[in-house]
Amino acid sequence: MTTVAFIGLGNMGSPMARKLLDAGYTVRGFDLAEEARAKLGAVGGLAFGSPAEAVNGATTVILMLPNSDVVESVIASADVEAALATNTLVVDMSSSEPLRSRALEQRLRQKGIRFVDAPVSGGVKGAENGVLTVMAGGSDEDLAEVSAILECFGTVKHAGQVGAGHAAKALNNLMSATHLLVSSEAILAGQSFGVDPDLLLQIVNGSSGKSGSTENKWPNFILPGTYNSGFALKLMLKDMKIAVDLADQVHAASRLSHAAVQLWEEAAAELPDNADHTEIARWVAATSQESAVSHR
Ligand code: NAD
Repeated sequence: MTTVAFIGLGNMGSPMARKLLDAGYTVRGFDLAEEARAKLGAVGGLAFGSPAEAVNGATTVILMLPNSDVVESVIASADVEAALATNTLVVDMSSSEPLRSRALEQRLRQKGIRFVDAPVSGGVKGAENGVLTVMAGGSDEDLAEVSAILECFGTVKHAGQVGAGHAAKALNNLMSATHLLVSSEAILAGQSFGVDPDLLLQIVNGSSGKSGSTENKWPNFILPGTYNSGFALKLMLKDMKIAVDLADQVHAASRLSHAAVQLWEEAAAELPDNADHTEIARWVAATSQESAVSHR
C-alpha cells in the first residue's frame, strides 16, 4: 500500500493521520511540536525529526499546516526538495492562498514533483469521524490517483484546477465567519429584548436564518460556554482575508465581506493569541455597549 508522509499533526492533522493508519496506510509524520510527533507514534505512525526524513520513501505527501508561508517554507526547502522522489504527489490540505498554490505547483513541476490542493471543512469532530468535505483542485489524473486517500477523510468535491480547492475553502470560511458574526449580533439583540437564546436558536433552525453557526457552533461551543471548537480565531481571520483578496483580484463586490473582516480583525487584536474562533460571540457581547453607542 502507498506510503504517505504527513506534515503538520495539529488539531486537524492528528486525527486525519489516524484515519490513514486505520485504513492500513503507512504514515511517516513530522510536526515541529514534539508532543504531536509522540501522539502519532502512540497510534502506530512513524514519527521523524525533520520533514526531509518524513518524505523520504513516500509516494504521497500530505501537508496540514497553518498557512501558505509555512507550506512553502516546508515543501520548497532545499532539503525537502532533495528528499522528494521524482513524480511524488504533494497534497496541500491546509487552508492556503489559491494564487500561491498555483505558483508552488509550477515551481514543483519544474522539479518533477506534482501538486494538488485539497483543503477541508468540518472541524476537528469531522476529522475524527472521517466526515470532512474535501475541496480538491488539480488535474483529473492526479486527483484520481489520490482519491482513495482523500476518501478516508470524508466526501471529495473536485472544484477545478490547482488553486480552486483553496479558493472554495476560503470563500466557504468567509461565509461561515460572517454568519457567525451576524448570528452573534442577532442572538444578543434577541436576548436583550427578552428572547431566550436557546429558544431563538430553535426557531431560527426551523426557519430561513439557519446556518452552520446556528446549527453547530452556537449549541455546541457558545451556549455551553466552552469555546473549544479547535479552530483558532486567527486561522479563521486568515481565511477571510484570503477570500476578500481573491474577490478584490477578480473585481467582485465585497463590501459586506470587508466589513466582516474589519470586525474580526478588531476581535483578534483584543483577544488572546490562541483564542478559539467561537470567542467572536463572547467578544460581540462584551463590546456591545461601545458599539451600540457608536451607532446612535
Ligand atoms: P494547528 O495549529 O492545530 O496545527 C498546525 C500544526 O502545524 C501544529 O501542530 C504546528 O506545530 C505545525 N507546524 C507549524 N509549523 C510547522 C513547520 N514548519 N513544520 C512542521 N509542522 C509545523 O492548526 P489546525 O487547526 O490543525 O489547522 C491546520 C490547517 O487546517 C490550517 O490551514 C487551518 O486553517 C485548516 N483548518 C482547520 C480546521 C479546524 O477546525 N481546526 C478546519 C478546517 C481547516
